[in-house]
Amino acid sequence: MPAGAQDRARGSAALDVVELIGCKRDGGELSEGEIAALVHGYVAGSIPDYQMSALLMAIVFRGLTLAETFALTRAMVDSGERVDLSSIGRRIVDKHSTGGVGDKVSLALGPIVAACGVPFAKMSGRGLGHTGGTLDKLESIPGFTVELSQQQFLRQVRDIGIAIVGQTANVVPADKQLYALRDVTGTVQSIPLIAASIMSKKVAAGADAIVLDVKVGSGAFMKSLDDARVLADTMLAIGEVEGREVRVLLTDMNAPLGQAVGNALEIEEVVRLLQGEGPEHLRELVTCAAGVLLSLSDLGVDEEQGGQLAREAVRSGAAFAKWRDWICAQGGDPDAELPRAPVQHTVVSGSSGTVTQMDALTVGVAAARLGAGRATKDDHIDHAVGVQLCAGVGSTVAAGEALCVVHARSEEAAREAARVIVGCTTIADQVGDHRSRPIVIERRP
Ligand code: URA
Repeated sequence: MPAGAQDRARGSAALDVVELIGCKRDGGELSEGEIAALVHGYVAGSIPDYQMSALLMAIVFRGLTLAETFALTRAMVDSGERVDLSSIGRRIVDKHSTGGVGDKVSLALGPIVAACGVPFAKMSGRGLGHTGGTLDKLESIPGFTVELSQQQFLRQVRDIGIAIVGQTANVVPADKQLYALRDVTGTVQSIPLIAASIMSKKVAAGADAIVLDVKVGSGAFMKSLDDARVLADTMLAIGEVEGREVRVLLTDMNAPLGQAVGNALEIEEVVRLLQGEGPEHLRELVTCAAGVLLSLSDLGVDEEQGGQLAREAVRSGAAFAKWRDWICAQGGDPDAELPRAPVQHTVVSGSSGTVTQMDALTVGVAAARLGAGRATKDDHIDHAVGVQLCAGVGSTVAAGEALCVVHARSEEAAREAARVIVGCTTIADQVGDHRSRPIVIERRP
């Protein structure tokens, strides 16, 4: 029986979860009402984890149609409150990354955009597995809190133009529960599930315009450009249905982004970026994302003018001043010493040449094992540890020169990370001084 006929056959009968799981397992299509009832039942506790796990696995194998993906996103948004940003009285912009290694773009982008006069209101997440989380990075600044009430959040965006906070329990509770379940049932890797998870949070968080940074490569969820394009187009379609203006950057995540991987180390790199320093490919991505965000704002500039405004905000010191105001506003001390690991182990290159590859996933896993990330969501984060690259992809190194410095709790942990990093780095016998792949691979639409 075709999917539509199955819908009709099921009609308005009481929710038969087993039948709906079977429908998806066999390649059928669920109706909007059925999806809403499934999400509602799961959040309310009437659908147990084992049934939702089976449904999620059926979705991983069978996928969702666009109509089902829209319905899932909407049901997830409707599982909780929506943040109302209208009292700010401005067009609000937001940015989201699908997650990667060394990704500190939001931390630099927020103060740059705010320094250009555009409010930046963002709810962020924590790191899981090999990917870092913006909140964990911010919490390495002594005193900084990511927990603001909704009133405090709105007041801060009105007063200084920027706030980045943790997602409160009542915004998209369905995603919290579903993501935790997906994480332990091998069901994260599904384009419609990822699209609905990300876009439900963006829609509920209230911004009018959103820049999505879809990472592609070994350290990303999307390993291939084709999959990244499908994810990007799915999220663009959801944005259109939900009345949000969305732009997507597909960006390289085969190598770590920037030269710091680990929470406090990445904060130091953000400070350098806001002072106009730091690796070129990272500055390029931040400026590109800022240009796109500013072009979507109410400033009335195009992307090129937005990029120029962003560069000027850094050059003039306005972005760094905004960073300091922001850190203070959320209880942090911008002048405080950041946590520092007791062991700093320099890893030297065994040969001379150009670094042509340094696998993002391997470096991310090594940093997480040092304690910079968490294997389960309740794990404790060590803000001090991580990896500081001295020679990123594209740099030339001589034999005996430093490749990276591992920041660790013990010599043993440092040696293990060093071994893994050397193993994932390729030094080719060729001369060159720039990253071989462009950082922004493609734009959509
Ligand atoms: N990030 C999210 O917020 N959700 C996913 O499913 C994957 C990445």
